[in-house]
Amino acid sequence: MNDVERLRAAVDGPVRLPGDAGFDELSRPFNERFRDVVPGAVLSATGTADVSRAIAWSRDTGVRLSLRGGGHSYAGHSSGSGLVLDLSRVDQVHVDLETGLVTVGGGTRTGALHAALREHELALPLGNSPAVGIGGLVLGGGVSVVSRAMGLTCDTLVSTEMVLADGRVVTCSEQHNGDLFWACRGGGGGNFGVNTSFTFQAQRVPPTSTCLMLWDRRHAVDVLATMQEVMRRAPDEFAARIGISRTADRDGIVSVVGQHLGPAEELRELVAPALSVASADRIDIADRNYWAAAEYLRHATAGGAFAVRTRTTGGPLVEDGLRTIVTAVDEWPGSSNPDGAGVGLFTWGGAINHVPAEATAFPHRDTLFLVSMDTSWRSDDAPETVRNNLDWLDTLHSDMGEYARDASYVNFTDPDLDDWRAGYYGPNAARLTEVKQRHDPERIFSFDQAI
Ligand SMILES: Cc1cc2nc3c(=O)[nH]c(=O)nc-3n(C[C@H](O)[C@H](O)[C@H](O)COP(=O)(O)OP(=O)(O)OC[C@H]3O[C@@H](n4cnc5c(N)ncnc54)[C@H](O)[C@@H]3O)c2cc1C
Repeated sequence: MNDVERLRAAVDGPVRLPGDAGFDELSRPFNERFRDVVPGAVLSATGTADVSRAIAWSRDTGVRLSLRGGGHSYAGHSSGSGLVLDLSRVDQVHVDLETGLVTVGGGTRTGALHAALREHELALPLGNSPAVGIGGLVLGGGVSVVSRAMGLTCDTLVSTEMVLADGRVVTCSEQHNGDLFWACRGGGGGNFGVNTSFTFQAQRVPPTSTCLMLWDRRHAVDVLATMQEVMRRAPDEFAARIGISRTADRDGIVSVVGQHLGPAEELRELVAPALSVASADRIDIADRNYWAAAEYLRHATAGGAFAVRTRTTGGPLVEDGLRTIVTAVDEWPGSSNPDGAGVGLFTWGGAINHVPAEATAFPHRDTLFLVSMDTSWRSDDAPETVRNNLDWLDTLHSDMGEYARDASYVNFTDPDLDDWRAGYYGPNAARLTEVKQRHDPERIFSFDQAI
């Protein structure tokens, strides 16, 4: 019996090989930048027992495991040349209506969780793409437009079941296996074990309104500067992504997209300074209930290949920093991906900052903006186009070092980040290394940038 046959005999879920129906969908990274990586096999685990068996098989054979939730890692960390352990079938959702505790399988997509919560008018901060897996999202922190009011996804985590490198199944919470529970709240997916379930504390949905405003590129510095001040003073109920972006056939557009947990009337007042500093080409500010708002704010993407680099800032960027951004976007080398390129300032802070930096592994508890710089291309763009795009992003990231901190969001995973330990984890890096050493000394769970 060869290794794959032994695996098949041991598990309940299907094992697919390259060429089998479903193999590509279950193993290909969402980011086409990493689509050349073809695993040897994919096991679609049916539950915790299959996960334990797959870990045992990996230890016996020495074949590297790649844990896959929703497959949306920016750096393709859920694929590799060995066995992909696909968790997409581990996706049961249970809502306890008395307590508001929601338990989901480790491979549940956030869209499925959101739909289950909707039936009961319950809310969790879940990010803006239904295809993202809850595992990757919560383990790296998880930021949503409602996080300034409701906290990070990981701040709502009450407990998680994990299968560890030695095959043990443990429950982690404040009371049990506290070191792992701490690490699972921001330490990044795939590092400490396979999380087969997560239990969150949901809350009643609040009333909400949304805004979408667009300006011509020539107003960029004025609008960005004004909106930064607006956000600095804004109540925790309001969050927005402020940005400038462009595509190959369209000059830069300045945008503010946000949600307020309150009426549109209040939201109009909040953003009034930006609307008075320059005349907008589009203004849509409206009351939208929580579910309509989530649909309205859903992340639309053409897919393809992309790269994102991040920094953080504790306050508004100075004008020279904004000019650096606007000039860079003007000089973007171009590609055929309609997602183009741009820079977004995601407003963090609020409830995110009410938690001490060392209380969970997520360290960015003093941030006002995540500065997210991105570019995209298509797999069939010329290698020179790809190189130019990556160089452009590198230069922008480096130039912004004068204005924003050397800190990066682990879930906007940056495979080109040199000192990623310090960047992702800051003061929590050393403790994360200790937890890794304690629970996975042989590094069964390993990938580029694994702790
Ligand atoms: C279109 C899009 C929209 C996004 N929107 C947001 C957003 O609004 N807010 C935000 O914070 N982030 C957002 N992200 C980033 C997202 O949070 C990360 O990419 C996340 O890691 C993806 O999780 P995944 O399970 O889909 O990906 P995967 O690639 O499957 O997993 C990511 C990492 O987590 C590990 N992992 C996944 N599940 C488990 C598990 N159950 N147990 C152990 N390890 C696991 C994997 O091994 C891998 O290392 C977005 C990404 C995309 C592509």
